[in-house]
Amino acid sequence: MALSGVEIFKLLPKTNCKKCGFPTCLAFAMKLAQAGVELEKCPDVSEEAKRVLGEASAPPIRTFALGIGEKAVKMGGETVLFRHDKKFFNPCALALNLKDTLSDDEIAKLASEVSGSEMERVGQKLRVDAVSIEYASNDSRRYEAVVKLVAEKAPFTAIILVCKDAAAAETAVKAVASRKPLLYGAASDNADAMAAIAKAHKIPLGVCAEGLEALSSLTEKIKSLGVDDMVLDSGAKTAKEIIENNTQIRRSALKKNFKPLGYPIINFVLRADPAVESAIASVAIAKYSSIVVISSIEKWKNLALFTLRQNIYTDPQVPMQVEQKIYKVGEPAPESPLLITTNFSLTYFIVSGEVENSKVPTWLAVMDCEGLSVLTAWAAGKFTAAKISQFIKESGVEGQIGHKELIIPGQVAILSGALEDKLEGWKITVGPREANSIPTFLKQRK
Ligand code: SF4
Repeated sequence: MALSGVEIFKLLPKTNCKKCGFPTCLAFAMKLAQAGVELEKCPDVSEEAKRVLGEASAPPIRTFALGIGEKAVKMGGETVLFRHDKKFFNPCALALNLKDTLSDDEIAKLASEVSGSEMERVGQKLRVDAVSIEYASNDSRRYEAVVKLVAEKAPFTAIILVCKDAAAAETAVKAVASRKPLLYGAASDNADAMAAIAKAHKIPLGVCAEGLEALSSLTEKIKSLGVDDMVLDSGAKTAKEIIENNTQIRRSALKKNFKPLGYPIINFVLRADPAVESAIASVAIAKYSSIVVISSIEKWKNLALFTLRQNIYTDPQVPMQVEQKIYKVGEPAPESPLLITTNFSLTYFIVSGEVENSKVPTWLAVMDCEGLSVLTAWAAGKFTAAKISQFIKESGVEGQIGHKELIIPGQVAILSGALEDKLEGWKITVGPREANSIPTFLKQRK
């Protein structure tokens, strides 16, 4: 919200009628300035005030989605330059580029690979989000056929149509308009025709120009033609250009509220060498790209890029955590072992993964330590003998299992004596220090 509370107050009815739930219009204005209430709460606000306040409160970077359904990719809406200032909200999409000159078999295979790229890491589902289809054949019928084939083989994946030929683009857009694709390729020489297609089908438009001055002039023109959702390509190709241009775009949008650059960014980082491509893609992910288009997907590459993206787009102020409870790994019986760990997501998923690897059905007690790992929680006084014993007593696990043995992480072996004092009648066993030793440890106990 760029307006101050007093500036907003001047636009309100000033009747102090209290219908908004606030005692005065000024109180409402002050809250609105902090983005703590919606303007709609005032039923008497004038249309003119709505227009002015609506514009002032619009996010500095336009927010919209590419694709439809559960796997639609939301982009834009970021509010800070640095992750530690607040957090980044909408993780950038990874898109596999394929040319329509490939054979149908190759296209079907690649589209299916994108569709099946999903993996789970620390409780989140990560995937290659989109297929970017490049018009290289110069044959609009071929392009349309390939677009339909990709849509069929990757039925829930977002689609990017990379096509600067407006006639061919229009045919392709019509074939998949219901999937809300991104049409990429509006430039100075085809802007009118491309904007008309995007407007008619209510889809976002990728705008490309060499340099930020040309790009901002072009987005202003396209906006005046009735297209609101745009994605920016400044022509940056090298890591240096990507860092410079993407930073300038983000900075202009956030710090100067410069609307012509207030859109998500797309970077094409296509390289023959997958290692080099991964390195450049990492730069784009780290520096403000909303869509990174790559030329190949391999499992090692996906894992590296997914992990980087996940790390950047988690909230640095809120540790990732799982629910405190007694988890079952496999189908544990009353005599199955009982392990305990903390609720830091990474700890939980690593420990439960290793227990699963052991094939020994196990009870896993996960204790709320505010998302801290075992040693950190212990050092912070959150994973102590008193707290563990209280959790075990209150968890009801005693009624589920037929023994009284608790296996604690080796890193907090120091707690074993105090725990035996606190948990009367229990045997405390010190487990492995490292999670990767859990399978051997559990199997040896059988
Ligand atoms: S509802 Fe509107 S006019 Fe009434 S007090 Fe609230 S802000 Fe003022």
